Amino acid sequence: MIKGKSRFAVKRTACGLGLFTLEPVAADKRIIEYIGPILNAEEANKKSGKYLMTIDEEYLIDGSPRSNLARYINHSCEPNAKAFRTGVRVWLWSIRNIEAGEEITYDYGKKYFDDFIKPSGCKCAKCVKEISDAGG
Ligand SMILES: [Zn+2]
Repeated sequence: MIKGKSRFAVKRTACGLGLFTLEPVAADKRIIEYIGPILNAEEANKKSGKYLMTIDEEYLIDGSPRSNLARYINHSCEPNAKAFRTGVRVWLWSIRNIEAGEEITYDYGKKYFDDFIKPSGCKCAKCVKEISDAGG
């Protein structure tokens, strides 16, 4: 587990580990930075794509270090946050009020979804609900 006083908690979810906020977050606020070494496209090609955050056509952030808490944020098709790029930095911003104890999610984008999520099916709250609604 993550030590120290933190606004966040990492907990197990249906999609593996997820990042939860321990404090309420108002809409349109910076939540957490997506940190890690900056790679160019060529360097990034040699890495596994799972924690790569695209900055632009040329650069990506390797978000795999454990110090990058934002790597625990899961994809959702109905997210409460979005990735916002400023220069070579990427921040997760709230797109609505988020309650204390809620999981933080953002939409990973179509390419990631098609490459990594679609093959095994999306397990976000929205998609799981749609499946159970259809089944019942
Ligand atoms: Zn989904």
